[in-house]
Amino acid sequence: SDFVANVSHDLKTPLSVIRMFGETLDMGRVTDETRRQEYYRVITRESERLSRLIDNVLDFSRIESGRRTYARLPTAVEPLVRETLEAFEYPLAQQGFKVETRIAPDLPEVGLDADAVGQALANLIDNAMKYSGDTKAIAIEAAVVDGRLALTVADQGIGIPAAEHARIFEKFYRVGRSETQGRRGSGVGLALVRHVAEAHRGRVTVESRPGEGSRFTLWLPLAGHALDPGRGRRARDRAGPRGQPALRGLPDRL
Ligand code: ADP
Repeated sequence: SDFVANVSHDLKTPLSVIRMFGETLDMGRVTDETRRQEYYRVITRESERLSRLIDNVLDFSRIESGRRTYARLPTAVEPLVRETLEAFEYPLAQQGFKVETRIAPDLPEVGLDADAVGQALANLIDNAMKYSGDTKAIAIEAAVVDGRLALTVADQGIGIPAAEHARIFEKFYRVGRSETQGRRGSGVGLALVRHVAEAHRGRVTVESRPGEGSRFTLWLPLAGHALDPGRGRRARDRAGPRGQPALRGLPDRL
């Protein structure tokens, strides 16, 4: 019941923002063109956030019922990282985040499910923002380390006590109320990241200390035939074109 309450709360917030800004525009009260453009951007940004939250819940339910499938295709890493980050450009700037991007030159194409890895990366960026305190600084890195692709999201936020490092990847688990208080979340984001990592025969690691920040890394094999042959097909058929996240989340049967 906590999960249902948390998810509903999570969904309500962007929805009420969209409604408020939509109604204000509809009433013709915003006469300044620059301000109007800003309102449209807020609506777009909040709808994207809504889509991501819904995708998370739908994918989580697919994982729980063993129906989540992945389609690994050769993928250019840099555009994937940049596109994912672009979706956060506005809230990052609005909240005053300093963002550093370190993408190694000449990264090879990697066989991965771009939607799934993009979603995992988005969850890590979302968390980095959510669990930052006064120091608002995020670093995104992509490099080949020890023969694997390492995608890292680092923040200088509230950090996580060592005793919690293993548990945060469990579904519904959230670190003690006092720390997460006031921060929205349903506790499935990292469970999803771990599932995506493991489905690619990779893993996700965390380095973090309370008060110093956190560093999450998604490790993915560069090559290999990790996925069950044939399992990817349904996912590929289901996937909408990139840039249409709302369609991406539809149940397989529709
Ligand atoms: P939630 O919806 O609660 O954010 P997640 O599964 O994404 O769920 O994360 C689980 C918990 O791990 C969070 O509730 C939070 O306590 C902790 N956590 C995740 N990312 C970070 C981070 N970057 N910094 C500090 N704590 C984090």
